[in-house]
Amino acid sequence: MKTTHIEHIGIAVRNLEEAISFYTDVLGLKCYGIEEVMDQKVKTAFFKVGDTKIELLESTDPEGPIGKFVEKKGAGIHHLAFAVDNIEDALSDAKEKGVRLIDESPRKGAEGLDIGFLHPKSTLGVLTELCQNKK
Ligand code: ZN
Repeated sequence: MKTTHIEHIGIAVRNLEEAISFYTDVLGLKCYGIEEVMDQKVKTAFFKVGDTKIELLESTDPEGPIGKFVEKKGAGIHHLAFAVDNIEDALSDAKEKGVRLIDESPRKGAEGLDIGFLHPKSTLGVLTELCQNKK
């Protein structure tokens, strides 16, 4: 696969408003978007740092993936997302190399990007997301 940069870092938070204040007031970043992703049962807030974004994730449902994560591990870094040229190719490439996939085919993530997750059991414990570059 062709990986170009870290698209975003996903951070699980308990309270989105509180987390936004930290990134805004302390780190001096600007929140440019807030979006609910029904599919993943989260509310997200986005910040830009160079080519990379910070994606804050607050669960909207304790049974959702972020709800369960925060319950088990507390708030903190949840996943790393890499930008790839072609998501379909990247996922089948990873599968061919023996990587366990969470998403066998791409789905829509925040900001309308086509994304797919690789299983942390196959990625040294780091939940890894692949995102297709905007064309
Ligand atoms: Zn993400």
